[in-house]
Amino acid sequence: MKPARFEYVAPASVDAAVETLLAANGEGKLLAGGQSLLPLLNFRMARPAVLVDLNGIKELSFIELRGESVVIGALTRHREIEHSPLIASRLPVMSAAMRHVAHLAIRNRGTIGGSLSHADPAAELPMMAMFYAARLTVQGPAGRRTIAAKDFFVDALTNCLEPEEIVVEIEFPIPQHDGWVFEEVARRFGDFALASIAVSIRRGQSGIEDARVAAMGVADTPLRLEDVERRLCEIEIDVRMPDRFCEWVRSSVSPNSDLHASGEYRKHLLGELARRALKTALAAKGDRR
Ligand SMILES: Cc1cc2nc3c(=O)[nH]c(=O)nc-3n(C[C@H](O)[C@H](O)[C@H](O)COP(=O)(O)OP(=O)(O)OC[C@H]3O[C@@H](n4cnc5c(N)ncnc54)[C@H](O)[C@@H]3O)c2cc1C
Repeated sequence: MKPARFEYVAPASVDAAVETLLAANGEGKLLAGGQSLLPLLNFRMARPAVLVDLNGIKELSFIELRGESVVIGALTRHREIEHSPLIASRLPVMSAAMRHVAHLAIRNRGTIGGSLSHADPAAELPMMAMFYAARLTVQGPAGRRTIAAKDFFVDALTNCLEPEEIVVEIEFPIPQHDGWVFEEVARRFGDFALASIAVSIRRGQSGIEDARVAAMGVADTPLRLEDVERRLCEIEIDVRMPDRFCEWVRSSVSPNSDLHASGEYRKHLLGELARRALKTALAAKGDRR
C-alpha cells in the first residue's frame, strides 16, 4: 500500500519543527529514521496531514560525555551508538544491547529518538533508558522540559509527549559497576525480543553494594525491577544466589500471551536468562565496567 496524501516539511531547526507541529494543530507527525513510521503510513494506520522530517537538523545528532553522563542527540542512528567507543567504555550494557536491534539496514537509519518515542515494549533502547535511569529533554511550544524514562513510557507504543513536543536529547548517567550482562532471546536474530534482561552489579566487602536489573518483552513497557535490586543487596553472595534471583525475577512479572509466545513461556524464559546473567555478572571480578 501507499501512504495517504500528506504535506512534507523539512525544518532546519528544532524551533522551526516545533512551530510546524503547532501549525499542524495535532495533525503533524515527526519523521526520524522512518523504520517504524513508514510501515504505519503505508498501511494507513497513521494518516498525518503534515510529515515533519527531522533529518536536516544536524544539531540533533551527537554522542558526548557531559560530566558523569553520556548524552545522545535524538537523531543519532542505532549504528553510531553500536560503534561508539564512548558508549562501549561508559555504557557497555547499551553497547551489547545494540547488536540485538533489528538488522544492519534498519540500524543504519533508525534513531534513538525514534525508538524511544515509538515505545515498543520489546525494543532495546527503551529498555536501556529504564536500565540507566535516563532523562529525556524534550522541546515544545513552552520551551524545554526533562522527563525521567520511568515517566516517559506510559503503555505499549505510547509515550507521555504532547503532540507538539520533540525529543531533543537523552542523558544517561554512568553507573559504577564491576559486572554486567545483557541477555536476550528472539525467535530469529534481529527479531524483537521474546524476553530480555540486563543486570549490572557493584560488589562490596561482603556482598553486592549496588545492583541494576531491567527487563523487557514481559510487560506493556520496559521494566526496572527495583524490588529485586534491593533484595540482591540484602543477602550474602553464595551458590544459591542465581537460583533465588531467578525466582524473584519470575515472581515480579506477569506477561500476557500473544501470537509470539505464551505469558507462561516468557516468564519462564526471563527467569532462566536472569539466572544465567547473574552467574556471569558475579564471575566478572572487576574486569568489566
Ligand atoms: C523489520 C524491523 C525489525 C525491527 N526490529 C527491532 C528490534 O529488534 N529492536 C528494536 O529496538 N527496534 C526494532 N525495529 C525498530 C527500529 O529500531 C526503528 O528504527 C525504531 O523503532 C524507530 O526509530 P526511527 O528513527 O526509525 O523512528 P521513526 O520510524 O521515524 O518514528 C517512530 C515514531 O517516533 C516518532 N519520533 C521520531 N523521532 C522523534 C523525536 N525526536 N521526538 C518525538 N517523536 C519522534 C515518530 O513521529 C513516530 O511516531 C525494527 C524495525 C523493523 C522495520
